[in-house]
Amino acid sequence: MHDFSSTADDTGKPGETGSTGAARETAGPGARGETLGARRDLAVRAAVEQGLVTGDGQPIAALLDIRAIREAAAALRTAFEGVAAPGRPVLHTFAVKAASLVPVLRLLDGEGIGCEVASPGELALARAAGVPAAHTVLDSPAKTVGELREALGLGIALNADNPEELARLDELITPGGPAPSPLGLRINPQIGEGSIGAMSTATATSKFGVALGDPGAREWVVRAYRERPWLTRLHSHVGSQGMPLKLMAQGALATYELAEEINSAVGRRQIDTLDLGGGLPVNFGSDEITPTFEEYARLLADTVPGLFDGRYGIVTEFGRSLLAKAGTVLARVEYAKSAGGRHIAVTHAGAQIAVRTVFTPEAWPLRVAAYDAQGAPKGGDTAHGAGGAGAVEQDVAGPCCFAGDLVARGRLLPRLEAGDYAALLDTGAYYFSNPFGYNSLPRPGIYGFTAGGDGVRFTTVREPQSLEEIVADSGGAHRDALREALRDA
Ligand SMILES: *Cc1c(COP(=O)(O)O)cnc(C)c1O
Repeated sequence: MHDFSSTADDTGKPGETGSTGAARETAGPGARGETLGARRDLAVRAAVEQGLVTGDGQPIAALLDIRAIREAAAALRTAFEGVAAPGRPVLHTFAVKAASLVPVLRLLDGEGIGCEVASPGELALARAAGVPAAHTVLDSPAKTVGELREALGLGIALNADNPEELARLDELITPGGPAPSPLGLRINPQIGEGSIGAMSTATATSKFGVALGDPGAREWVVRAYRERPWLTRLHSHVGSQGMPLKLMAQGALATYELAEEINSAVGRRQIDTLDLGGGLPVNFGSDEITPTFEEYARLLADTVPGLFDGRYGIVTEFGRSLLAKAGTVLARVEYAKSAGGRHIAVTHAGAQIAVRTVFTPEAWPLRVAAYDAQGAPKGGDTAHGAGGAGAVEQDVAGPCCFAGDLVARGRLLPRLEAGDYAALLDTGAYYFSNPFGYNSLPRPGIYGFTAGGDGVRFTTVREPQSLEEIVADSGGAHRDALREALRDA
């Protein structure tokens, strides 16, 4: 059972647990206005009052705190500006898969953050958002020839994943000519596993990149660069949820050392940019932002001083850490029941919105906050979402038709009743933007909000999916196709 009662903190004060004295920040309060938690409470109440969630029709909605996204973007920029050589720009890209929403990409573009894309769909979203080609990086492990050609045609940087992909690039690039876009090779420094196997990209047998420690691999990589003067970047992906910062910095060090080795072997500074892929872990236990971008940038500078001495351009690819804290899923409690002595709140948020939490709950625990039917925190301002007085142990279930569809098990919460709302916190990345089409449940509407002196204002990021759209997405236009095929056979 995951009990966040000792760390959940909606007052914005640093949590009492988990603080080790290293650089830490709480989300807000900013120059004017409330903390992340206070803004969330205001937004939930306003979402109920303004009918974004309703008793009938719209039992679930997703809320995005626009200020929280901008604050995360600013923290990222500031952190790297603090360590990078003056005048040597760092290109931050956002891993689109973490929140594949055009308005989000557009907002980040305005903050100077480009896109890391890994499919034709993600590239289309980045282009729809107006993200310049020069701020876009393509990283998929399964790029087709068509995708490679398109990226080269657009001048979009890409990182080849393996020798076969490099051979395809050889075919597409004019020998002796300049490369149409910045090109790199992805290596796997094989530094080891984090606490979540599925998120660990740098194990000995990870599917990504050229495994650097394999027999002959390092020599092959050096030769690949020597033979291809247009290969000017080196890419690795070393971190994600569950990865210790120290291990990530070791991955960056291994990448830097290989670049130095290649440049000295070819006798010139052929590699001019290091793409340090992979994201920062997110604290799903409280509103505290930890680790911070600043902590990571400083650790990188300490571990790999040469990284920021001005000889290399730097690309980053953060996803989850830019968006997670900004998002809340708000779902109505339809029924409150009990089974075998266990209280169960049946809500409208389950596997369709929280796939990883439902299927691997130990790896992806979420905080749940309880609100009443008017959208007011249940159990008092500071206790909701935690085990305050009157809290009872309960399961928080979703609407999907399988028994394991639970977003929290045995959680101490104010008793959720029919008509209340359950909020899934820190769900701005990889939750509502990555729905799972189970039971033909609709994708919920997503609303950006600002909460200021003049109240809460919402703006639509994505409309809720309509039943007509579900039918259309489910072959509605081909209603008779199978019957007719049988008749014509
Ligand atoms: C997913 C991904 C990221 C971002 O990871 P997060 O954990 O969401 O920050 C960065 N780079 C690459 C290549 C990725 O595949």
